Amino acid sequence: MATTPEISVAVREKYEPVIGLEVHVQLLTESKIFCSCSTKFGAPPNTNVCPVCLGLPGALPVLNRRAVEFAVLAAMALKCRVNETSIFARKNYFYPDLPKGYQISQFDKPIAEFGEIEIPVVGEAKSARTKKIGITRLHMEEDAGKSLHDGFPDALDKTGIDLNRSGTPLIEIVSEPEIASPDEAYEYLTRLKEIILYTGVSDCNMEEGSLRCDANVSIRPRGQKELGTKAEIKNVNSFRFIREALIYEIGRQIDVVESGGKITQETRLYNASEGKTYSMRSKEQAHDYRYFPEPDLLPLVVDEKWQARIAETLPELPESRRKRMVADYGITEYDAQILTASKALADQFEAAAKAAKNPKRVANLVQSELAGRLKAKGLEIEGSPISMRGVAISADLVESGAISGKMLKDLYDRCFERGKDFPAVYEEEGRPRQSTDTSALEKIADELIAANPKQVEQYRAGKKTVIGFFVGQLMKASKGQGNPKLINELLEKKLEG
Ligand code: ADP
Ligand code: MG
Ligand code: ZN
Repeated sequence: MATTPEISVAVREKYEPVIGLEVHVQLLTESKIFCSCSTKFGAPPNTNVCPVCLGLPGALPVLNRRAVEFAVLAAMALKCRVNETSIFARKNYFYPDLPKGYQISQFDKPIAEFGEIEIPVVGEAKSARTKKIGITRLHMEEDAGKSLHDGFPDALDKTGIDLNRSGTPLIEIVSEPEIASPDEAYEYLTRLKEIILYTGVSDCNMEEGSLRCDANVSIRPRGQKELGTKAEIKNVNSFRFIREALIYEIGRQIDVVESGGKITQETRLYNASEGKTYSMRSKEQAHDYRYFPEPDLLPLVVDEKWQARIAETLPELPESRRKRMVADYGITEYDAQILTASKALADQFEAAAKAAKNPKRVANLVQSELAGRLKAKGLEIEGSPISMRGVAISADLVESGAISGKMLKDLYDRCFERGKDFPAVYEEEGRPRQSTDTSALEKIADELIAANPKQVEQYRAGKKTVIGFFVGQLMKASKGQGNPKLINELLEKKLEG
């Protein structure tokens, strides 16, 4: 955890953090952005390369149509305005994993601008107010290769270059400096990832580098309009670490200013095991990228017709899906939140709920019976032994009165013990049914009534709620096997005398 410098709350409250995020997302095309090499992850080093992505002299880039469509789809999902014409530009810098000496990116004419992501206002109850974070721009670019520092047993100081990743299509999504806390940054990233996953243009796998984030952060005295000088934290590899790095960095900046110092514009690296950021290079050492339009590529034109075709492939996005599910299934905003955690899960739920007699009961079971058991086992809902179909089947059994709530709980426990889905366990247990045999229940009811004359008297004098006492006793005596509706009816009859 971050060892944030010791700053009192009062001092901290004097300042307001300002955060802007730059997120790189790898597009799931089969081939690279400017050549036909495979983008497959994990191939032996330097096997997916050709003269174009190796940057050999004379090789010419050809733009991958699919990459453009994916970028536009992501832009639309992020509510950006898509520019009909955008320009590729050379971003010049020297680095061993960049064979051409420049990266083809977009600069002053990106493919999309002016989007937004809606995040819940942090610190308020679930499903309360939301806040919109502006997206300045979304542009296309190629990825660089990778420097490999480990795995050379003969020489510890060796560095290898793997150019398989060179030329992999990326989009960069740049936010406005409108994120007001590390928690909001976390929410923004969570939403962004969720939306991109729904579009299917990336797997957003952070371990494989499919989603990478640089965080810009500054502080200013609360109430001041003008932005402070920012530091950019590079290459943090989880959302949790980004939040921690920001917490540390905000504390560090406040410390510097409070002790009379000045923040210098710089790039910093986060060391997750220490929970601290370190200066990597200052503004003076910053790259001058000498951008200019890429002479080997024509301006990219995505006309209205093409945009319309891409728009047709836009799936229902999490936010509107949640709203619709609340309306369609009578579930709460919170239920909808859990059930739309991934597109696959939401699809499964909807298919199951539609097939079930009472969709609301399916949602309730997920919340009340499934969620707790998953948490206890440290499982994500995707890894649940009970499928959404299983939940729907169990819900129907309760709905029809075939099994009781208590029996369902027991069956769910067995599913988790055995790692099996509900229908299988239900079969294994011999399709149990709750008792509808009233003779045994009637006998207990008679005994209860005989043993509690005072309560009977109260009931008959008009205090009808006393029936709850008898229901509870009878349920207990029948070990939860009794059908609650049946028990109620039976007791009413007996108590009415
Ligand atoms: P640079 O040219 O250094 O890359 P940009 O203006 O392109 O800077 O902004 C990069 C990111 O930094 C954006 O997400 C933006 O919102 C954010 N940003 C810009 N200025 C600040 C600031 N003063 N404090 C915090 N974030 C900032
Ligand atoms: Mg930048
Ligand atoms: Zn290639």
